[in-house]
Amino acid sequence: MTEKPFASSADLADRQQTLEVLADGVYALTAEGDPNVGAIEGEDFLVCFEALATPVAARAWLERLREHTDKPVRHLVLSHYHAVRTLGASAFGADVIVAHDGTRKLITERGRQDWASELARMPRLFREPASIPGLTWPDVTFSDRLTIDLGGDRGELVLAHCGRGHTEGDLVAWLPRHRIMFAGDLVESRAALYTGDAFHRPWATTTLDRVAAFGAETLVGGRGAVTRGREAVEAAIGQTRDFLTTMLDRVGRVHAAGGTLKEAFAAAHAALEPRYGRWPIFEHCMPFNVSRLWDELSGVDRPVIWTAERDREVWNALQS
Ligand SMILES: [Zn+2]
Repeated sequence: MTEKPFASSADLADRQQTLEVLADGVYALTAEGDPNVGAIEGEDFLVCFEALATPVAARAWLERLREHTDKPVRHLVLSHYHAVRTLGASAFGADVIVAHDGTRKLITERGRQDWASELARMPRLFREPASIPGLTWPDVTFSDRLTIDLGGDRGELVLAHCGRGHTEGDLVAWLPRHRIMFAGDLVESRAALYTGDAFHRPWATTTLDRVAAFGAETLVGGRGAVTRGREAVEAAIGQTRDFLTTMLDRVGRVHAAGGTLKEAFAAAHAALEPRYGRWPIFEHCMPFNVSRLWDELSGVDRPVIWTAERDREVWNALQS
């Protein structure tokens, strides 16, 4: 049998985690293509960005953060609803969990299914899955923008929704004083995009335009290394856009010509593989990405809910 192992189920090697101090009181933990997390110090409190997949995974991050600061976590900010970004929330003991309105809606509507789907797709990220107490519920949500005053002379942290993109409820966290952005999965730096719950057309155009308009000089994407310098940030946003427009072009052509999903997958894979094929999670993502884009081009407005069963069906149809 030459069948490809399902999604990332055979990916079991731990990634090296790197904690970087991006500015005074601004931290990022990157992990060679595994989900990134961050933290921002207020005058007498912390804002943490992203929660990882389980409380056990989150505690390992917090232990490293505690080498730098012992301030209590007041806010835990979730960039979007995906399980590997939210289910570790209980470890933070945050006073307030903050997310976009769309994230609360998605957790209500499909949080359970997404948990089961992601656990089966990426078991390595779920360290001690039994430590997850349940779904993570935001305490505060917003539609457009929410500003957190960091106190003292630390300036403010702006949370902004830039439109539909990686999901319908993404936010970015922006530190104007340092020109640092935490972009969640709206931008990846030398890591493949996951677009299985995405809105490709707005993401590739207006949403990324709004992300770029901040003019970040340091950017922490959802996965991959920290991007430093205006040019490198623009390149990371450009790479994200190129991935999306290539998919739109190749899948769109097959769709318009009355071809099949399998043909669309082959066309998109062939076009993207030379540039992105060796980046983390490329093979993992492609069947789910093309399947969602096919639906989008067919007029299905909101992504169909991924379940463990549907994941297998799509994988077997396209990657086997
Ligand atoms: Zn995501």
